Amino acid sequence: MTNDDIHKLVQQHHVEFISLQFTDIAGMLKNVTIPVSNLVDCLDHGVWFDGSALEGPARVAETDMYLIPDRSTFAVAPPDGDAGIATARLICDVHSPDGRPYAGDPRRVLRRAVEEAASMGFVYRLSAEVEFFLFKADGDGRPVLVPNDSVGYFDATNDTYTQFRRQVVKALQAYHIEVNATHHEGAVGQHEIDLQLESGLVAADAVMTMRQVLRSRALRQGMFASFMPKPMTGLPGSGMHVHQSLVDSVTGANLFADANDSYGLSQLAKHFIAGVLAHAPGMLAVLAPLVNSYKRLVPGFEAPVLVSWGRTNRGAFIRVPRVLSDRPQTTRIEVRSPDPSCNPYLAYAVMLKAGLDGIRRELPLPTAAEEDLVTMNARSRIHVPLPMTLGDAIQALQRDEVVADTLGPLIFERFVESRQKEWEEYRQHVSTWELDRYLPIY
Ligand code: GLU
Ligand code: MG
Repeated sequence: MTNDDIHKLVQQHHVEFISLQFTDIAGMLKNVTIPVSNLVDCLDHGVWFDGSALEGPARVAETDMYLIPDRSTFAVAPPDGDAGIATARLICDVHSPDGRPYAGDPRRVLRRAVEEAASMGFVYRLSAEVEFFLFKADGDGRPVLVPNDSVGYFDATNDTYTQFRRQVVKALQAYHIEVNATHHEGAVGQHEIDLQLESGLVAADAVMTMRQVLRSRALRQGMFASFMPKPMTGLPGSGMHVHQSLVDSVTGANLFADANDSYGLSQLAKHFIAGVLAHAPGMLAVLAPLVNSYKRLVPGFEAPVLVSWGRTNRGAFIRVPRVLSDRPQTTRIEVRSPDPSCNPYLAYAVMLKAGLDGIRRELPLPTAAEEDLVTMNARSRIHVPLPMTLGDAIQALQRDEVVADTLGPLIFERFVESRQKEWEEYRQHVSTWELDRYLPIY
């Protein structure tokens, strides 16, 4: 997309404001709005902002940063809520005043990882299955823990929620985001939207836009879209399974496919899986970053609990979906541990770099685990359990050099610090569960 293309679209849609978007380390979408009269200057020079919004180093001298728009992300927002004021958005990279990419920008972390894959001749392709809950919202737009329906897994209903999902799909199309499918998930009030396969940065941008579109559309209908990994005790949590493959950057051929293998996997794919498994404990804090994430990663709810892989197994860290024999191009692996609260730029970067590490070191693929891992007792098996709490996951992260190197020293330090703080706060909190259980007895 050239500057001319952008100006044409601005005129055609009578765009009045531009929303400049970026993502902080915690994975929250941030925004600076400019009137369209500043667009030319913004495209030429970027826009100043206070870089401490990224939770980077709070040193005053370093907070002057610039948002540099990525022209390819220009999109006119679907006409809605905004009182008829046409708005467009541009996703931005963050640069320091000397013009260099800023190390505290999560999008840069993924950009670097993707560039490294490109230097090896690979394009990283991904698609996310985003699960979420629709709760009721109160008058102030805050969530109330009441699911909005009593429908079950894949139930075909023509209710307001099916319509809502269709509206979301149409709104996403305005941002050039294509959806493969949507359905009702296993728990009451739980839904899933599956995004189309895209290359690295585009795929991560799509997750950010989708979360925002879902949140704002739901609020307009008195609902709250929640990406909290496990909002309700005893019900399934929300995951964000990520399907991924490497394709040849010249021919576009899927490098994970090998029709002669019983799993349909090439040697390259096997090394990639081995790399992801080798770094599974170390990257888990990035894929599942909240205290609450670990209440999802428990047996019995089709969420991964062990460092393993398999075909039919929904309790494995990685699942290899069966593909039609005449469609080897769709060969992929599905990493099941990320949840929708993660920062997709950081999550995609660490998974890619772990896989590349497996390829470089030619790591051998462990035996597939096809037994039912969903309900089994992890300790009774030889498989390595995943970290069971955020505290354990932070410790594993601190020991993993590949993950640390992927994030870079600045983001690594800030990420660990913020996760540790959250974990300590939680560890010291006396919960209602403890009071209910212990106070009447002890
Ligand atoms: N909701 C489950 C999870 O937490 C996944 C269910 C499914 O297999 O789609 O990962
Ligand atoms: Mg699902």
